[in-house]
Amino acid sequence: MRSRSGPSRGFKDMKVIHTQRVADEVTAVWLQALDGGNLPDYFPGQHITVQTNDPVSGEQLIRCYSLVGSAVEEGRKTYQIAVRFVPRPHDRPDLPDGRMSTVMNRHLAVDHKIQVQAPSGHFVIPAESTRPIVLVAGGIGITPMISHLETIATLQEQPRVHLVYANRSRETEAFADRLNQLQARMPSLTITRLWGAGEGELPYGVRVG
Ligand SMILES: Cc1cc2nc3c(=O)[nH]c(=O)nc-3n(C[C@H](O)[C@H](O)[C@H](O)COP(=O)(O)OP(=O)(O)OC[C@H]3O[C@@H](n4cnc5c(N)ncnc54)[C@H](O)[C@@H]3O)c2cc1C
Repeated sequence: MRSRSGPSRGFKDMKVIHTQRVADEVTAVWLQALDGGNLPDYFPGQHITVQTNDPVSGEQLIRCYSLVGSAVEEGRKTYQIAVRFVPRPHDRPDLPDGRMSTVMNRHLAVDHKIQVQAPSGHFVIPAESTRPIVLVAGGIGITPMISHLETIATLQEQPRVHLVYANRSRETEAFADRLNQLQARMPSLTITRLWGAGEGELPYGVRVG
């Protein structure tokens, strides 16, 4: 188990400036540099690595979270992530719930200090494409897709995009409002939403169960 310690090499001091519940057990978190400086842009699909201490055990936690929001922003001051609470397995009451996702969903408040590494990752979704794009997301896997769509929404020429988005229920579907807003801004975007137990739109003979 790692011990409590200061920021590791390559991490920048940041603070939480806003949090928002975006679905059942999913919290979106906005981060800003402690010195208020500009932040580098990223490619849609990339993630940041965040580090903080568990407020209960003091253990140092380091986890990756995909960036949400447009990848390109003039004079960027914030990064945004969204974290789903990960419970312990049903058959293992002896285990703790997911540690970082507990911090993010239960303990985080404005001004909470957190260390963040620069955006990175090879999972990059090209924003410009001459061919139609199909995105498939399950649950919290929607985060890099939101970044991709909000980046495309800023382009003059928007490719056709179809998003297939599956969730257990409407309550657990993160970013429903933002997807509706994106559809209003992007005539080229179509979405198939799937929910468990026959609740969703099921075109093309798709079955969920
Ligand atoms: C590139 C990348 C991007 C990501 N983007 C996102 C994102 O946008 N949003 C998001 O929510 N997540 C994302 N993740 C996942 C995220 O990094 C974390 O893995 C997730 O939040 C869980 O971390 P945790 O500390 O809460 O759980 P952990 O503490 O790591 O626990 C995970 C699970 O393991 C169980 N467990 C604990 N100890 C044991 C044990 N001894 N034996 C067996 N099981 C045990 C826990 O009960 C829990 O169910 C991403 C991951 C990667 C790699």
